Amino acid sequence: MKYISTRNNQIEKDDKIALLQGLSDDGGLFVLKDLNNKKIDITELLTKNYNEIALEILKLFFSFDEEKLKKAISSAYNKFYVKSVTPLVSLKQAHILELFHGPTSAFKDVALTLLPQLIQLALEGTDKEILILTATSGDTGKAALEGFKDVQQTEIVVFYPKNGVSKVQELQMRTQEGKNTKVCAIEGNFDDAQTGVKNIFLNEDLQKALGKKKFSSANSINIGRLTPQIVYYFVAYIDLIKNNKIKVGDKVNFVVPTGNFGDILAGYYAKKLGLPVNKLICASNENNVLYDFLKTGEYNRNREFLKTISPSMDILISSNLERLLYDLADGDAEYIKSLMKELNETGKYKVNDEILGKIKTNFIAGYATDEETSTIISKVWNEEKYLLDPHTAVAYKVMLEQKDLEGEIIVLSTASPYKFCASVAKAVLNENDEDEFKLMEKLHSYTQVEIPKNLSNLKEKTILHSDVIKKEEMGQYVLEASK
Ligand SMILES: *Cc1c(COP(=O)(O)O)cnc(C)c1O
Repeated sequence: MKYISTRNNQIEKDDKIALLQGLSDDGGLFVLKDLNNKKIDITELLTKNYNEIALEILKLFFSFDEEKLKKAISSAYNKFYVKSVTPLVSLKQAHILELFHGPTSAFKDVALTLLPQLIQLALEGTDKEILILTATSGDTGKAALEGFKDVQQTEIVVFYPKNGVSKVQELQMRTQEGKNTKVCAIEGNFDDAQTGVKNIFLNEDLQKALGKKKFSSANSINIGRLTPQIVYYFVAYIDLIKNNKIKVGDKVNFVVPTGNFGDILAGYYAKKLGLPVNKLICASNENNVLYDFLKTGEYNRNREFLKTISPSMDILISSNLERLLYDLADGDAEYIKSLMKELNETGKYKVNDEILGKIKTNFIAGYATDEETSTIISKVWNEEKYLLDPHTAVAYKVMLEQKDLEGEIIVLSTASPYKFCASVAKAVLNENDEDEFKLMEKLHSYTQVEIPKNLSNLKEKTILHSDVIKKEEMGQYVLEASK
């Protein structure tokens, strides 16, 4: 399987190398060269379970031995609390696809329980060592740490924005165990962390100083992060068929709470592979750079970075948009390179009308303010006794705005409400408390929604990581950490 860079069609790597490298040397993202020729036959999935569907999809992207791939998949999804992995819950106006039943209670687990094993398969028979660098807006960090903990031939360093994640998210990371894990806060926001990590990747001096260790990424710039996320779009569709809500071939819509554009891109890839998708609905919080872009074709990150109650979506530079643009530009890497150069130099770019037209056929955009998000959490609880986390609530609000949409609507639910306890308890109970664990208990006794074990257990864990650095110090930090 060959992957090429979104910025240079001459750069071509095998799947294993693309997986290990994370980012192409020229700063582009890896895309499957042959994606346009891959198709999934829905009728063949009807009798398959989650793991079997995952196998069918991952086979299209990776050349690993099938038995090994099968094993990796089953050991990843054994870690989930529910057997169906991503259950679908039907409410009055939409179906909720619950993606948060993994070991860290966020949808990032779907990919990050599997990625370390894919990397291990790619390392098999080599003496290579991998240093995973990750920038996180809160959820990727913990899920990646948990996934790579004590995995041989790997080390992992996670950077998160100090004051930019929820208390529970921060505690999850700072109590991380494992001999090969490092966690560090930076004085800056998520974009600073992500840009810092990308710069480290492209810094040849740092790479030399590391010796034989090579950088890789657990962010959704890594194709090993993206591909497992395609699976649940198919699984949700099959569930709707099994529940007699749709027939094979009926079109459905997905509403996706979006930050780095990874999750929704996986939905777009699912559509390319043959899933009958009408619209992909991109839901943003007040950092609505994607909303503006999808409406106007102009991407402009020159605006204030806002802190919201859906912090995992506080992002102004959505990396994976580059992969979408590459596809919509029919693989015109020179054009993508010029857009990204403009973004880098001026903080903005505008796509041509042809691409904007294609965007409009595939996507709808919406956004929610914090106030609207809180209102939705309380409304959905009162009316349906269903507890939304703030990210899912953003998507839910955007779902409610849609009129005359053809087909069933599926809202992707990306986190347990208990990860964002302060905002959820405020919305539902009008309770404020400094102590997150008291809030968890209050919310639980009021709603009877179970607290995931990994979150209630946090209280007993020891803080193991306390580093805080400036964003300029990230490179040096990585060097020290890897010694
Ligand atoms: C990461 C995250 C998102 C955004 O997903 P992207 O792939 O970055 O668009 C939404 N909700 C939660 C809870 C997340 O952790």
